[in-house]
Parts: sequence; structure tokens; C-alpha cells
Amino acid sequence: MTKHKFLGLLLTAVFLVFSVFGCSALKDDPGLSVDAEGTLRVHYIDVGQGDCTLIQTPDNKNILIDTGNPENYDTINIYLKAQKVEKLDVMLITHPHSDHMGAAEKILKNYTVGSVYLPKVAHNTMLFENFMKAMNEKGLKATAAYAGVSIPAGDTVSIDLFSPIEGKSYAELNDYSPIARVAYGETSFLFTGDGENEDEQDAIAQAGLKLKSDVLKVGHHGSDTSTGELFLSLVNPQYAVISVGRDNTYGHPSENTLNKLKGKTIFQTDREGNVVAISDGHGISFITQNSGKMENPAPADESSAISAKPIVYIGNTKTKKFHLTSCSGLPKADNQTTFETRDDAVGQGYTPCGICKP
Ligand SMILES: [Zn+2]
Ligand SMILES: [Zn+2]
Repeated sequence: MTKHKFLGLLLTAVFLVFSVFGCSALKDDPGLSVDAEGTLRVHYIDVGQGDCTLIQTPDNKNILIDTGNPENYDTINIYLKAQKVEKLDVMLITHPHSDHMGAAEKILKNYTVGSVYLPKVAHNTMLFENFMKAMNEKGLKATAAYAGVSIPAGDTVSIDLFSPIEGKSYAELNDYSPIARVAYGETSFLFTGDGENEDEQDAIAQAGLKLKSDVLKVGHHGSDTSTGELFLSLVNPQYAVISVGRDNTYGHPSENTLNKLKGKTIFQTDREGNVVAISDGHGISFITQNSGKMENPAPADESSAISAKPIVYIGNTKTKKFHLTSCSGLPKADNQTTFETRDDAVGQGYTPCGICKP
């Protein structure tokens, strides 16, 4: 069985489970259990107005970026258990605000944590102090997170930090958030924490064109203080994920940011619940907790690639070519058809696209 076929079957199985049990069952079991071998899984966990992302590498390393709000511990704990996570190899806290560091102390106390990465900035809150105390008790020392640092993530995945600048003081705590690029094969994911304009400018100066990524976790919950034009044009993502609470008092995500993201496929945790991106190193598919209910899952004109059913390949019914979902030359929605496996596409007389070489 080819890897693609295996992934296709597995995702189909996951989707069937969704269909059978519906969304209410998923609320009790939000695990979106995807343990496809040879894939990188990025779980944007729905923690309301906050951030928490679990990254699972092909060689079974677990990396947690941020830990939601203090009251999100149960949600995160249930999610991690559903993914059979016992050890977190790395925990990266982007900055000490309570919607990012919230459950960190409890996670530290209840899980084996290999190493902790933090930007070098203190915060005068009980939350921060208790977390540092818990680190001490565990005999852990935080590794400073700044531009130039690479976080070990197994043999096949790289995590490179492009900001903040080492030793620099930022006026905004948010701007200490490391802008981090996770790459597996030809696919890539950018993380931004709550980084605002200054943080983005520093990452641009450090990384330039290396910012290019397939999936952008939109900075600061979609606030218009983040996602500057130049930054976005360098990242140039096909997919954007916004981690945001329903009816939040901040008005996140802002109209302005959503306008800038026009043409991308946008996932919002307040609408979609947990969002999981699965990369086989060539292309990325998404599944979401509420996929059965999504009315308009793909607002993008060029890439209505994502529907309730996970899709691995997109065919052009006119040219009879097929593409990876990440291809820059996807057909218009009207001319799209989908295949779960490469063999399906070839079996139906489609030939691979010369650009994305699926
Ligand atoms: Zn935040
Ligand atoms: Zn913040």
C-alpha cells in the first residue's frame, strides 16, 4: 500500500467516524485521532480566545506551542490524552500572557516535559511566577527563544526561530513572541504567537524570503496590529489558521486582517473547532472538528480545495491534470474534482501537474 493510499484510507476512516457520531460526540471526544504514520500533524486546538498547538512529528516527537488560558487545562489534557501523548518533548511558550501560558504550570506538573523554550522576558504575574517555580521543582531550565535558535524536532522536521532579536527590549510583551517556521519535506508552517508589527519587521530582516510557508497561524488572533502587508506577502501562505474565541471582546479577528487574507483558505477555531493539518511532506490536508457542519469551508476563489472530506489531490476536469492541494496552479472551483489517492487520479486518466509534481 502506498503512503498516500494509507493516508487516504485513514483519513476516510476518521471522516466516517465524524459522520457516524456527529458533532456532539466530538465535543466529548475532541481528539480528532489521526495517527497516520509518516506524517506531520499540526493540531490547532480550540482553546477559545487563546493559542495552543500540538505538533506531532513522523518520528513521534510531540511539541506544544502555547498552552491556552488557565481554564483550558482540561480541554488540552483531554486532547493530548486522545492523541496518546504522554511526553512533550518540547514546550514553547511564545510569551507570558495568560492566554498563551495559561495551563503551562499544570501541564508541567502532569506531563513529562523534555525541554521548555521561552523568550527572555519576565512578567510580574502569579501565573508567570508559579510557572517558573514549577520549572525549578522539576529541575528544568528554560532555553531562551530568539532568532537563530533551532528547536530539535527529530530527524525529519526542522523548527527555526526568526525572532525576537537576542537581547533586544520590546515595548510590547506580544513582540517577544518567536516567529517560528516548522518544515517537513516540501511543506511548512509558520507560527507567530501574538507578534505585532515590530516582531514581524525583525523576522523580515532576519529571514526575508525564508518566511515563505504553506500555512500561517495568523498573529495575535487576527488582530489588525499583526499580519502586515510585507510580512504577509513574504509568508505568502495558501492557508491561514486563526485561533480565536467566539464573540470575544477584542473584536478578533479584525475585518482588516480578514480582507488581507482574501484568496487564502481560512480556518477559524471559533467556527471550525479543532483544526488539524496533516502533511505527508508533499501536500497538506486539513480536517476540522465541525467539518460536517461547515457551510462555507473554503472562501478562497482559487482554492476551494477543502471540503468536509479530506482531500489529497485536486483534478482539473478540463485539462485532466491533477495537483497537490498546495499547488500554485489549482483549477477554478467549477473545474475541480478530487481524488483521495494518486492511483485514483491516474486510474481515471488524469496526468500529474508539471509544477507541483504530485
Ligand atoms: Zn494572545
Ligand atoms: Zn499576548
